[in-house]
Amino acid sequence: MSLQFQTNRRLSEFSTFGIGGPVSYAVEVHTIEEMQQAFAWTNEQHLQTLVLGKGSNCLFADSGFLGLAIVNKIDFCDIHELSVRVGSGYSFSLLGVQTARRSLAGLEFASGIPATVGGAIFMNAGAGGSETCDHLHSVSYLHEDGRLEEFLRKDLQFSYRKSPFQSMKGAIVGAVFHLELSLSARHHQLEIINYRMKTQPYKEKSIGCIFRNPSKGVSAGALIQECGLKKYKKGGAQVSDMHANFIINTGDATAQDVVELIRIVQQRVKFKMDIDLEPEIRMLP
Ligand SMILES: Cc1cc2nc3c(=O)[nH]c(=O)nc-3n(C[C@H](O)[C@H](O)[C@H](O)COP(=O)(O)OP(=O)(O)OC[C@H]3O[C@@H](n4cnc5c(N)ncnc54)[C@H](O)[C@@H]3O)c2cc1C
Repeated sequence: MSLQFQTNRRLSEFSTFGIGGPVSYAVEVHTIEEMQQAFAWTNEQHLQTLVLGKGSNCLFADSGFLGLAIVNKIDFCDIHELSVRVGSGYSFSLLGVQTARRSLAGLEFASGIPATVGGAIFMNAGAGGSETCDHLHSVSYLHEDGRLEEFLRKDLQFSYRKSPFQSMKGAIVGAVFHLELSLSARHHQLEIINYRMKTQPYKEKSIGCIFRNPSKGVSAGALIQECGLKKYKKGGAQVSDMHANFIINTGDATAQDVVELIRIVQQRVKFKMDIDLEPEIRMLP
């Protein structure tokens, strides 16, 4: 087997947050066959798996993970007329830029989201009223037992930051998007990226918005800001000064710091506004 199973790695290395304890094994997979081999190996060894994209939505535990972290690098991309066939490890942000440059509309919102395509589908990532599922046509899915299955979007139920893959065991390995022709796509995408750069703490270590917006039109960030929590700190974790729904790792934050800060924010917002904030991040394992 050609796969390189690495030891002595930490989950913090696989997260944009830079937080997370040791993992028993880690492996990068570049093809669907390699993903199959990785699953076969964990089945043989009776180990658990954690399939990862860029770790841009994951708060990993300080205690780490007993099992195999599979870092997805399946990154082919074929654009043919209005149809895009893409590997799940492909950069979602790059896909948004490349399609917009070809005057293809539907994924402009992806530009600036530091995700893989697979992570974006799994989380049904979205911004500015658009969601990953909107222009999705189909998903190739590898079950942990090695079976490859093709799902059509019309048979899948997505909702706000939810996909059916969140209750399945396996990996999204590829997808097809059907886009629309629009001469303003590139302009729209550039507007989106400029807005992100101005409003989100891109230079800091974070995992994006921590809480779901409690209802349509009500921003969790605005509620946290109204409670005066911008810059509030617990250990090395801090509510961002730029966008109150982001928590940043100021250097030495632990998962425990982040969890405590999340609790404090929830308690303050509940006390002041009687609103329950629910995290949208993945706390793993
Ligand atoms: C600066 C910044 C800005 C952000 N902006 C946005 C935004 O505008 N909108 C938004 O929705 N999110 C945003 N996010 C959050 C994050 O980028 C998204 O949730 C994204 O979808 C996560 O993708 P990922 O590849 O990093 O997944 P990961 O964080 O690696 O994984 C997330 C979950 O998906 C699972 N997973 C990942 N890949 C696969 C796969 N191939 N098969 C099966 N399961 C898989 C993982 O096991 C995990 O449970 C932002 C994050 C940052 C840091």
